[in-house]
Amino acid sequence: MDKKSQVKCSFCGREKKDTNVLIAGIEGYICDNCVTQAQGIVKEEGSEKINANLDKELKLMKPTEIKKHLDQYVIGQDKAKKVLSVAVYNHYKRLSQSSKTLGPDDEIEIEKSNIMLVGETGTGKTLLAKTIAKILNVPFCIADATVLTEAGYVGEDVEAILSRLLQAADFDVSSTERGIVFIDEIDKIARKSDNPSISRDVSGEGVQQAMLKLLEGSVVGVPPQGGRKHPEQKLTQIDTKNILFICGGAFDGVQRLIEKRVKSQSLGFQASKKMSMLDKDNLLQYISPEDIKSFGIIPELIGRLPVLSHLAPLDGSALRRILTEPKNALVKQYVRLFELDGIKLDLTKDALDFVVEKALEYKLGARGLRSICESIMMDAMFELPSNGKEEQMFEVTLDYAKSKLSGDNLKNLKVA
Ligand code: ADP
Repeated sequence: MDKKSQVKCSFCGREKKDTNVLIAGIEGYICDNCVTQAQGIVKEEGSEKINANLDKELKLMKPTEIKKHLDQYVIGQDKAKKVLSVAVYNHYKRLSQSSKTLGPDDEIEIEKSNIMLVGETGTGKTLLAKTIAKILNVPFCIADATVLTEAGYVGEDVEAILSRLLQAADFDVSSTERGIVFIDEIDKIARKSDNPSISRDVSGEGVQQAMLKLLEGSVVGVPPQGGRKHPEQKLTQIDTKNILFICGGAFDGVQRLIEKRVKSQSLGFQASKKMSMLDKDNLLQYISPEDIKSFGIIPELIGRLPVLSHLAPLDGSALRRILTEPKNALVKQYVRLFELDGIKLDLTKDALDFVVEKALEYKLGARGLRSICESIMMDAMFELPSNGKEEQMFEVTLDYAKSKLSGDNLKNLKVA
């Protein structure tokens, strides 16, 4: 017998002549048949592992628990928190369902519910999304809709959003396909004019059309390193069917559209009664998909974002709580900063109320709190660490805060 005919698969024992392909390893051989079988085993084991993780996660995080976690970092915004908690919980349920093999009679497929969050800037949309990301075991990324343009124009292709998610998932495709994407400033890609045919709207409707493809669930070629697609670059195929999209936007001026709609929907006496009952300070709470459409988002895109929620404007008491209550509240951060230099920092109640007062007066919202505090603390942060004393106390009183926040300092306040 010649030596060649003795070559056989080390796994099943088939001789070379009985196989299509026989691959040589260091110690032996494997045939195409065994490779296929082994691949099946790897796949099954892998999906069992994913399933077990998802089941564990589901048990750990019920919607109320997710909301409790959000409460530690985000003040107020109960409605949006509830909506997000339920959406994320359902997202996990869908994933664990789709990775289990369904029986032939099981035709109920839970569809995903992408989310649209509407709220003025600085009310916590990004903070909510970031906080959710921290507690989740799926990849997450934040993308900015303002940089997106239609394919072929200067700017980023819509697919770039998925590049970021792929990077967040360490280039693991199957985990990318279960991720969550937060798309900020979605209102900036609204159609600029009511007449869609006047001219090509590079940054508006075209981008919305391109986004449809991502949101509805399709297989998209993604440049793994981001940037534009070009012919030489190898694309990674990503199925967006199970990716959850959360879109956020300020929709400046949508309040007017809401008011107009409510007015036109009710006539005569009813109308004036209804108008007087409206909470004019927070018209966003009445937002409906119709208003988003009037704002310039195409109906197809609205249809793919079926969950619509709003964030309330932040009033004085909310700002006051934001200063001290969240787990990483601004005041807590300053206390820690000074503590590292052995300085015990204290801010009096009056001083904190003053910070809030100024943020409201200059309409700076929650983002302004930081710049106001920075102006007040700057001199102390500059001088105190180098005055050589061992243990120091430093109290920021109302008078101190006022003295630091006057003249030029006040003029220079800008939103961080
Ligand atoms: P948006 O995305 O709505 O424009 P952000 O989430 O970026 O606003 O908020 C800006 C900053 O203001 C946050 O980093 C956070 O410090 C603070 N902030 C805003 N809203 C809240 C809130 N509801 N609770 C706690 N902090 C908030």
